[in-house]
Amino acid sequence: MVKSGFVYFVLMVTALGTLAAQDQPNPARNNQVVLKYLGAAGWEISDGTTAILIDPYLSRLNAPAPPGGHAIMGDNRRAYGWNDVASPDIAAIDSHIQRADFVLVTHTHYDHVLDVPHIALKTGAAVIGTESTENVMRAYGVPEDQLITVRGGEDYQFGSFSLKVIPSIHSALDHKRYFSSATAPAGMKAPLTFEQIHPEGGTLAYLIRFHGHQILAFGGMNYIEREIVGLEPDVALIGAGASRKEIYDYSGRLMRGLHYPALVLPTHWDNFLAPYSTSQQPAIEALQSFIQEIAAASPKTKVIVPRYFEAIPLEAAK
Ligand SMILES: [Zn+2]
Ligand SMILES: [Zn+2]
Repeated sequence: MVKSGFVYFVLMVTALGTLAAQDQPNPARNNQVVLKYLGAAGWEISDGTTAILIDPYLSRLNAPAPPGGHAIMGDNRRAYGWNDVASPDIAAIDSHIQRADFVLVTHTHYDHVLDVPHIALKTGAAVIGTESTENVMRAYGVPEDQLITVRGGEDYQFGSFSLKVIPSIHSALDHKRYFSSATAPAGMKAPLTFEQIHPEGGTLAYLIRFHGHQILAFGGMNYIEREIVGLEPDVALIGAGASRKEIYDYSGRLMRGLHYPALVLPTHWDNFLAPYSTSQQPAIEALQSFIQEIAAASPKTKVIVPRYFEAIPLEAAK
């Protein structure tokens, strides 16, 4: 009796175990959306099946500083000039990016686009960006069928997500003196110099609708208010670098226009001229005023300061 009872119990447990496994699908398939910060304006947004990258820049070269930027002290890596060939750090990219299905590029500056040709060629991902961005892809031989050229205003359905492309404007660098109408021309051939890989080509933002979430991603510290009013993202990746202070009521107009998103993740706030291993403490300290601005403009919004490559799982959409 005891023995058969034990067998019955084992069978029961096995059956329950099987049921439980069916009730709780593979975490990679339960529509859980997870974000990871890649540094600079770079993000990975994935549900375990579809991986979307935004402005992935893993190379973090000791490259020409943007206005207001500066190389770190004691950096003994090679220092690049504007006329040097812009070669991505393939090892850095490959150690962090295993797969991608879509790469969204906000504009054609090297800290947004330099790594994208290698990622596109390696993964076969579709690259969505301006004509300028796509011309950089063409220079590196990324096949035409991987290129989806947009200008802002498109609202496209892809398998498990949809993507609204939002016209935007570049950060007001150099105390509002930054302006560029430059765009990467057709017909360039790799390898390109930093100068060639750095024509803005216009700036876009993206709204990604994915498993009930709406994730709004900016690639810098500016926006066109009328283009964002009425969007209701639950997650907003908002440029938090110092140049946002050039903008009138930057965080207030954003929070009101977006109707107070539940979660704000600051982006493009770190010093991307430094390797991942370098302390970002000065940038994290500078970020505190951004966190205060968001708290003042939208007290119920949660702000998470992302750590590189740390998974940020979104709560299930309501
Ligand atoms: Zn830029
Ligand atoms: Zn940038």
